[in-house]
Amino acid sequence: MLMCGGTLLAGSLALEHGCAAHLGGGFHHAFAGHGEGFCLLNDVAVAARGLMARGQVERVLIVDLDVHQGNGTAEIFGDDPSVFTFSMHQESNYPADKPPSNLDLGLEDHAGDEVYLDLLSEHLPKVLERHDPDLVFYLAGADPYKDDQLGGLSLTLKGLRHRDRFVYDSVRDHQIALAVVLAGGYAFRSEDTVAIHVATIEELVSQFVG
Ligand SMILES: [Zn+2]
Repeated sequence: MLMCGGTLLAGSLALEHGCAAHLGGGFHHAFAGHGEGFCLLNDVAVAARGLMARGQVERVLIVDLDVHQGNGTAEIFGDDPSVFTFSMHQESNYPADKPPSNLDLGLEDHAGDEVYLDLLSEHLPKVLERHDPDLVFYLAGADPYKDDQLGGLSLTLKGLRHRDRFVYDSVRDHQIALAVVLAGGYAFRSEDTVAIHVATIEELVSQFVG
């Protein structure tokens, strides 16, 4: 519940200031009626619905770049045209059953920086233009990293930093509010997971604040 509150607050602060980050959140495997995969409550879904109920937003885009597909989020918003769900993930990883997001991009095992960033840069600007959201929630998962215990992609620390920078550049170009949550990260060396999350925040500060 604390995570839900943090993500709701980040969304609200993003609308006020242009961007905000919650140093937690991104529990995208939680469904409306049950939890899965380390996720009990879907904080981003709660926050999106909360901001809508308060009349603060009408249209939301969820950009989910965790290595695992955002199955709970996809199912929760499956029939809701006001929320566009975009998930880019490793196709052969958990969850085996992937309810369709509005846009799913499933990558081959061991896909690296170049393939990943090419695909993201091909699709994200189009999604931003097509859906024209009031607010973007970005799940900046650290688990597409090459040395992640639960991930099978091969992004480097530099590649992940470029990924974050590209998301921030794209959202800022469209003058849309941005709320960032951390999502997964299980590197063999926990220092690497920390470094990835720190880079996510450093890039946000340099793009939006610095
Ligand atoms: Zn994950």
